[in-house]
Amino acid sequence: MDNWIYLVLFLAPFLGGTLAFFFKPKVEGKYKLLLSFSGAYLFSVAVLHFFSVIFSSGHIEHAGVYVLLGFFLQLLLEQLTRGLEHGHFHVHHDHHPSFVYTVMLGICIHSFFDGIPVFSGEHHGHNHSMLSAMALHKLPEGYALVVLLGLLNIKTSTSFILLFLYSLVAPAGAMAASYFDNQNPQVLMILYALVGGLILHVSTTILFESESGQHRFTYQKIAAVGLGSLLAYLTSI
Ligand SMILES: [Zn+2]
Ligand SMILES: [Zn+2]
Repeated sequence: MDNWIYLVLFLAPFLGGTLAFFFKPKVEGKYKLLLSFSGAYLFSVAVLHFFSVIFSSGHIEHAGVYVLLGFFLQLLLEQLTRGLEHGHFHVHHDHHPSFVYTVMLGICIHSFFDGIPVFSGEHHGHNHSMLSAMALHKLPEGYALVVLLGLLNIKTSTSFILLFLYSLVAPAGAMAASYFDNQNPQVLMILYALVGGLILHVSTTILFESESGQHRFTYQKIAAVGLGSLLAYLTSI
């Protein structure tokens, strides 16, 4: 796998986070449309590209069980991060200062899993759809992390260090995938299936959260979701 791919995986969350030091969230509308687009794109790339890798390899039995486990693993991680990986942030004032450690632990484990599927596209077919879907997913993720750290009154310098460390984790996930591909491909296939479930959870949550709560999509949102899926179709096939 080319080295620039690690760089992209580092830069996406890092740039998203850096933006948050300069632009505080104000208008939610356009931002939510971007989230809908990124959610639809990630979901579609997973279904069109990544799931065929998981289920057609024949390397693991019961791949579906691992997919389910990944789905519930993400549910647990979300309890630590309070949904930061969806690109939004809710802070209640009763948070203990130690909440920062919980958030960092959750988002770093999640981020490690984010890096793994990128290897699947880059390694064999040189298909960049998963890389671009992940990069697009990690921009708002990094942004939300820095906004949250600010709301928790963490010093800017400390936030910056935490952002830097967190941005290193997704490339580390991709490196781990490359390592297991050489050493033990079976472990890699299990990781792929886990990540498949994790992505299903994250991407569908992003899609459903960015609606009004009344199960009514606006035309703009339908367009954003349609565009995301179409782009995934065109780049995955
Ligand atoms: Zn959420
Ligand atoms: Zn993520």
